[in-house]
Parts: sequence; structure tokens; C-alpha cells
Amino acid sequence: MFDLAVVNCSQLVTLAGSQRPRTGLEMRDLAIVPDGAMLIREGRIQAVAPRAEIERQITPATRIADAGGRIVLPGFVDAHTHPVFAGTRADEFEQRAEGATYAEIAARGGGIRSTVRRTRQATEAALLESARRYRQWFLRGGTTTIEAKSGYGLSLEAESKILRVIRQLAAEGSLRYVPTFLGAHEVPDEYRGRIDAYCDLVIHEMLPAVAAGKLAEYCDVFCEPNVFPPDKARPILRAAEALGLGLRLHADQFTADAGALLAAELGAVTADHLEATGPAGLAALKAAGVQPVLLPGSVYNLGSSRYPAARPMIELGLAVVLATDFNPGSSPSASMPMVLSLASTHMKMTPAEGIAAATINAAWSLGRGHEIGSLEPGKFADFAIHDCGDYRELPYFFGRDPAWAVYVAGQCVYPA
Ligand SMILES: [Zn+2]
Repeated sequence: MFDLAVVNCSQLVTLAGSQRPRTGLEMRDLAIVPDGAMLIREGRIQAVAPRAEIERQITPATRIADAGGRIVLPGFVDAHTHPVFAGTRADEFEQRAEGATYAEIAARGGGIRSTVRRTRQATEAALLESARRYRQWFLRGGTTTIEAKSGYGLSLEAESKILRVIRQLAAEGSLRYVPTFLGAHEVPDEYRGRIDAYCDLVIHEMLPAVAAGKLAEYCDVFCEPNVFPPDKARPILRAAEALGLGLRLHADQFTADAGALLAAELGAVTADHLEATGPAGLAALKAAGVQPVLLPGSVYNLGSSRYPAARPMIELGLAVVLATDFNPGSSPSASMPMVLSLASTHMKMTPAEGIAAATINAAWSLGRGHEIGSLEPGKFADFAIHDCGDYRELPYFFGRDPAWAVYVAGQCVYPA
């Protein structure tokens, strides 16, 4: 009657609890079952309990996944990634090591616009092939769902191409993808100095086509005074909302509060980055119920020391999310364990808070809190067996990929 039993887990880290995002001290309660086990049928969890209780229900037809005394966690939900692009920016990484700043590189045509030029030229097949390679990196870190943004096309044709690649990746199974349209990621070369004309293109051509093709669930805008300031971002996000898309914002990465205030004003689902957000911005997010998505990998990779203020956010009762921001410029890492390490060392989040932010809170931020993000009966059996005996070792042994086996809907997807 059961397809699969997962047994011999030193800690079954379930995150069972309230059917809503976790805040405050709830983020420290991982609902661990010591020597726990789990029964799965048709891709969904049927029972979670101590091992002896589960073993009584196993029949000769039940396959056994023996965790070998390792820990078992819900698959990480990475709620902010840019996983479809051509080429790398290893050349710019080298220039930054030699002293150039991100802003200087962008001013001479590098940065996002250089990836846009390459991505426009790439075929759909080539983009699919590179994104499949990155998919393995997510799985290897124990991630089972990612939010995936477009944003390296910046034309109707190229943005659609990227979103079709994401749709194809989603159809292939293994990793789950939640697509987000980020046409307002940057103003492309041919619209330099004509931001209004580009916003018109996003609102009147791209968004209707994306919505009609059901190519995205969310719309994101890079909201920053010198990229898309609030008065340009607002009409784009309002148009997206009118078409039924949820809203997420790149907010306050470099400049305080304008992005957070706009996210709150529009009732966005998330405000992402928030490295520069001050007390007024945080209070607005709290009042509007916006979830902060924190991206310490990009702070680290840009060589900055200004990490987002996770502690005040948690103390304020915000349902904090952690994500990789995987992208070729500022955060070329798909590793959620690395993000957990950065969150503990630089943002003083406890390992438990980090795990809650990277699983159940992230799942709610993607509208999937009822399906994924914790190990509870009825949810998808999306989980990872990590090569640790204690969950605190995940951020502690940093710089490695600890996943030993990863399952999506009860099927082993890593190792393949
Ligand atoms: Zn981003």
C-alpha cells in the first residue's frame, strides 16, 4: 500500500506546524523527529513518525530508502534565482579582483547588459542545455523547487524565449520551477536614455503576451533610483497585477527604502535584497505583510559587508526567506547550504532560523505552502538526505554540497 519508506534518519527535520509562514521564535522550531521515518504513496507523504511506528506499516512491496543515520530535510525552496542565461561573467569577476567596481563595469557596458547581448544571440536549445547543467547544481545542494526569473532578454522575443526554456525545464520533472517575468531588469542598449519608451514596451507588449501565454506566475521589477525608480516600476507592477500576476520586487539593494515602500504600497508578495532598508522600510513591509527575501550570496560575491538586517526583521515578526539569487554577475552560486552559512556568520541567523527561511517560509512566498516546504502528511514527498548527523552541520561545514540523495514527489532525482 506504500510505495516508499524513508528510514534510519538521525534527525527527520519536518518543520511541521501552522499552515502559514513562520515568524519570530517559531523560526527556531524545526519539529525534529529523532530517529524518525516517513511513508510515501503516489508522490505524497502519508505518515511521519518514529521509526518503530513506521516500520510496523511496511509491507514486502514497500521500497526502502535507508538514510544511513543521516539527516532528512524538506527540499530547499530557492525563492529568487536567474537560472537561464548565456555565457558567464568570469572576466568581470577577474576585473573586480583587480579593483574595478560593479558600477564601473556596468558603466562601460558590462554587467547585466553584457549577459543580455549573449542571451539574445543564444538559441533556445543552447539556453536549455546550460540551464540543465545548472539544474544539477541546485539538486546537488538539496534544492527541489526554484523560482526562476527571465530578465536577460529585454525584448518580447528574447524574454519569451527564456520563459519557454523555464517551461520546458519544469515539464522535464526533477527540479520544480516557478516562473517570474523580469522584463524590467535593466534598460536594454537600444533604449538607453528612453526609459519611458521601454516601460511602454513592457506594459503594452511584453506583459500581455506573457500573461496570454501563461508563461509566468509572478512579475518582478529591479526597483532602484538609477534603474527603475518607483514612478517607473509602479505602473509596470500595477499592469502585471491587473493581468493576474503576483508581485515580487528587487528592492533597496543599494539605496534605502524606496523599494520596500513601493512593495508595501502595492501589496507585493515579496521584497527581495533589502541590504539598504532602514526602519521605515521594515515597518512598512511588516504592516503590509510582505515577505523579505534575503540574498547574502550576492553581498558576499560583490565583496560588500552590508548584509541585510535579518535580526531586526525577525524581531519585528517578518516571515524572512533566504535564497541564492543564482545569476552570472553578482551571485554565481546555486548552493542553499552556502547561503545558510552566510546567514549564520554574517546575519546572525541561527541554523534553525536559516532552515525555516529556506524551506517553509520560502514555500509560502511562492504560494505553495500547502504543497511543499515541510514534511507533513498530504504534502509532496520533496526531501533531501544530507550527509550530516545533525542539522547544524549544514551551515557549519561550509563550501561543500552535502546532499547525499534528493527526492521530488517520492522519486530519486539526485544522484540521477
Ligand atoms: Zn536577483
